[in-house]
Amino acid sequence: MLDALRQIVQDVGAASSFRHALDLTVARVSMILDTEVCSIYLLDRASGRFSFVASEGLNPEVLGSLSLAPGEGLVGLVVERAEPINLSDATEHRRYLHVPELGEEELSAFLGVPIIHNRVVLGVMVVQGHPPRRYSEQEVAFLVTLAAQFAGIVAHADATGEIRHLFGDDTHAHEANYQGVPGAPGIGIGTAVVVKPMVSLDTVPDRPADDIEAEVRVFDEAIRRVREDLERIDEELSKSLQPEERELFEAYLHILDDAALAGEVRQRIRQGQWAQGALRQVILEHMATFERMPDSYLRERSADVRDLGQRVLAYLQDISRTEVVLPDDMILVSDEVTASMMAELPREKLRGIVSVRGSNFSHGAILAQALGIPTVMGVVEMPIFRVDGQPMVVDGHYGEVFVSPGPLVRAQYNGFAEEEDRLAVELDALKELPSVTRDGHQLNLWVNVGLVGEISRSLDRGAEGIGLFRTEVPFATRDRFPTEEDQRIIYREHMEAFEPRPVTMRTLDIGGDKSLSYFPISEENPFLGWRGIRVTLDHPEIFLGQVRAMIKANAGLEGILRIMLPMVSSLDEVAEARALIDRAYREVGEEGFEVKPPQVGVMIEVPAAVYLTRDLARELDFLAVGSNDLTQYMLAVDRNNARVAGLFQEMHPSVLIALREIVKDCHAEGKPVGICGELAGTPEGALLCVGMGYDVLSMNATNLPRVKLVIRSVSLRDCRRILARVLRMRSTAEIVAFVRDQLVAIGLERLIPHHEVPELF
Ligand code: PEP
Ligand code: MG
Repeated sequence: MLDALRQIVQDVGAASSFRHALDLTVARVSMILDTEVCSIYLLDRASGRFSFVASEGLNPEVLGSLSLAPGEGLVGLVVERAEPINLSDATEHRRYLHVPELGEEELSAFLGVPIIHNRVVLGVMVVQGHPPRRYSEQEVAFLVTLAAQFAGIVAHADATGEIRHLFGDDTHAHEANYQGVPGAPGIGIGTAVVVKPMVSLDTVPDRPADDIEAEVRVFDEAIRRVREDLERIDEELSKSLQPEERELFEAYLHILDDAALAGEVRQRIRQGQWAQGALRQVILEHMATFERMPDSYLRERSADVRDLGQRVLAYLQDISRTEVVLPDDMILVSDEVTASMMAELPREKLRGIVSVRGSNFSHGAILAQALGIPTVMGVVEMPIFRVDGQPMVVDGHYGEVFVSPGPLVRAQYNGFAEEEDRLAVELDALKELPSVTRDGHQLNLWVNVGLVGEISRSLDRGAEGIGLFRTEVPFATRDRFPTEEDQRIIYREHMEAFEPRPVTMRTLDIGGDKSLSYFPISEENPFLGWRGIRVTLDHPEIFLGQVRAMIKANAGLEGILRIMLPMVSSLDEVAEARALIDRAYREVGEEGFEVKPPQVGVMIEVPAAVYLTRDLARELDFLAVGSNDLTQYMLAVDRNNARVAGLFQEMHPSVLIALREIVKDCHAEGKPVGICGELAGTPEGALLCVGMGYDVLSMNATNLPRVKLVIRSVSLRDCRRILARVLRMRSTAEIVAFVRDQLVAIGLERLIPHHEVPELF
């Protein structure tokens, strides 16, 4: 039965349409369970009733026209109870309802299981038969398992409007609404552009070439660029390697010759295959030839052929991508939006971002917030390959996406966008004003940055320092580790732009969700794996180079350089990192740079570090809480997983208690403490952090003016009073509602998104 289940799920998943998936399911189930009838009833959201939409064995003429209310008949009872009902003779049950049109007179055995997605009953799957019998435990388990998997397909069809189409409701045939999680606030209205991720050689499909000559041209261009790269690398390596050690690159260049690989690929294209498919075929064949060789040296050349193929493929995809003309109002849609994807696209054209995977604390979302691009993450139901080129509305406040919105939705969102523009004008006027509460308490409002483009945005919005420079971002936008000099130039640009304000540079924080294409880390459980300081302590050459570049970048400037270590969980890590930083400082001095020693601090992101706050504060110059990771690790909720995004609560009572303790312990040692997770950039979070006594609130440039408005509208006493009430509460929902009420009472309702999301029926 397990095999049958796997097969049916696979076939249904591959069905050409939802109609086909329904028909296939009922036919297969009745065959596998050897029962006369299998039917499916689905929720019609417009009427709230469950419509009879597919059946093997019952009257097909009433498909789509017959429906039952929740609670009506046995199907309605399954909906009401949201659990399976297994009856040997349904006709004897008091809730049995005879529906003459169905033609089920002869049937007595009944098994109905609910189709549930995200706690909502979307339908019921029913099998019926004759003579009376109870379906076995195995049969029930089979149907329950199938229905649970089928629920995903139904939810998808619900979102795409295919279910409405089944009910003959075509009024909004193209208008669809998908839900995700808010990634970056704001409203974006524009045209969807689907950016496909780089695929690996193994997954390139065969496809006929639309235009053979154009495919040959693209391929030749890719080969030319790879040749150029190889010659450049060879040239660079010639300074440090002997000729025999550089043979590999010569071998690569030979493989690319017309007489070898390139010629063969071109021949396949001329036979009608598109360039990427032809490349895959040829590379895989060559690899197989090498792998069969008895000589181990030659066998290993198979990996070189793959590497070369992957390089050519990257260019093929790149060239095809740049040929697309981007609309001026583009909404970037991708399976997983990455930092480098964003960095490559022109900011002035980007109106919004939609990512199928990830959640609001994913790196992609954090960058979008920094750039002020309305973003929705985790839109798992959206069929991305069908939305390319469609008009789209992105509601980053509530995590809603509208594809091909009708005039009503458009008009509403145009109105919301205008309201936002008015608020932006009001916030702009605060730029030059100090961030001080009504009773004179001064706060440091700093920014989190990553992309060079954020410097001017941050200064423009009145940032008084950099609280977190995510140095992995410039690393992620390259195809190899940047050299020490490359890094020094980038860091210097930031330090000079902010001079004489303090700049906090975090050492490389890769691992978890932050990966570098040229340094892949593949782990079962990446967030608990090789991340942050763990990686760089294992690679002192990377750490030292980075720290040296930071110290050099600070040469001759007044601004304070603060070096911050991510993901610290023990004092040993701090001692090791400090020793390396001291060494780097000495080395830079020996090279003749006039530099002052940097301040060194750590991020409190791991629960273990919370309990070591006093010891860490004693050892270091400052501490800063990374509330994104701290929330993830305290609540055991993956910050990237859309399915548990609702459980990722930065205002969870436990998190708030920990945040309060950190401030107390750090101040007890006389050291300053900041917070640079997303919490600090929300009006609600900022209010509580001020009450707790944080010295620095660091956030993305977009949120900074809002937080400044909050700070200038409250007194420290208010914040402490609100915090005291909050720390007695034990439910996140209660805390959020209470703090929002307080914001409204202060007159800041306009900072809380309060528009109604239109409903599509
Ligand atoms: C954090 O974890 O809160 C933080 C600021 O770091 P990042 O989001 O870059 O992991
Ligand atoms: Mg972090």
